Amino acid sequence: MRGSIKILSIRGINLYMHWTLFLLAGWVAIVNGQLGNDIFQLFWSILFLLAVFACIALHELGHALMARRFGIKAHDIVLLPIGGIASIEKFPDNPRQELLISMAGPLVNIFIAVIIYLILPDGTSLMRSPANFGSSAATTSLADLGTVNIALAVFNLIPAFPMDGGRILRALLGFRLNYIQATTIAANIGKLFAILFIVAGILFINLFLPLIGIFIFLAAGTEEYYLRLKSLAKNVKLSEVVMYEYNGLQAGMLVQEAANILMTNHSKYFLLMEANAPVGVLNRLVIVKAMAEKRYGKTLKELSYEKPEYLNANDAVEDVLEKLARNDERIFPVMDHAHFTGVVSLNHIIEYLLIHKADTQDFERLKSLVTLMH
Ligand SMILES: [Zn+2]
Repeated sequence: MRGSIKILSIRGINLYMHWTLFLLAGWVAIVNGQLGNDIFQLFWSILFLLAVFACIALHELGHALMARRFGIKAHDIVLLPIGGIASIEKFPDNPRQELLISMAGPLVNIFIAVIIYLILPDGTSLMRSPANFGSSAATTSLADLGTVNIALAVFNLIPAFPMDGGRILRALLGFRLNYIQATTIAANIGKLFAILFIVAGILFINLFLPLIGIFIFLAAGTEEYYLRLKSLAKNVKLSEVVMYEYNGLQAGMLVQEAANILMTNHSKYFLLMEANAPVGVLNRLVIVKAMAEKRYGKTLKELSYEKPEYLNANDAVEDVLEKLARNDERIFPVMDHAHFTGVVSLNHIIEYLLIHKADTQDFERLKSLVTLMH
């Protein structure tokens, strides 16, 4: 995700922090200032905030490591002020796997809460009061951290997409129903919860609840449209949608020459070609940056490029949708028996499905899907 800083890497999973978290730290500092707290209390509040986000990171790590057990790759975890996102390569269609992956996150928080409860002195209650960021006693802060973990588990178990509870619900329904039926019912139950949140927000005059409600409502829609896209893509192979015209740049080309090509081509990504085979995916900004830094004489291969993720021409489109959805403009080289045939991208596949498979109603829905995915 743009604007994220890599903090560390745990067993091949990169942990990123979004810059907006600094705003949250700033907000904590301002609240402390208004309360007239001293520097020690401020330090303690920031430490508490860090501990909360460490727990969120562990929650996401729980999902990622469980996904790995089923051979599903998970590369990145991004921490945002609203929580964490683990980008898991694809969500399994198998309900048992989906159930275990979705439960792993909230279970981590419950586990942390239990550990905290065990190490706390007897008689300290976890459910004492809502967490307060200004506390300065180690015991109460630890108890607050326990409360936060219980709240994280409960919030994530709300049976609505995009919360883990929504996926758990779909997985449970999936033992009896097919994936499409299960998703539709789970999305509808999610919408019901969204309405409850909005009504509760009005009744209790709370602004936060309706916001969660709207968030859940949009997510339920995205999940349904995504499913529709998947069903439209059924039985379509990558070999049908592959673009034979692609933007390839030779690895040995100089930055200066490539910059001239950029002037007449507005693609965001280019394939780095060497001996008729793609060896990398180059973001145009990398070339622009090299020009700005006056590195005209460098070859493109000397710039930083991403390793291509090769797809197989015989793969079904629906199996790679999740992978493509991580970045709708990114291009993926398609190989047919070690022979490079062309490229695909999510945007292109959506266009293909709109032209060849969709009716007018789908067209509107899929168009909104493209915007919702960002
Ligand atoms: Zn989760």
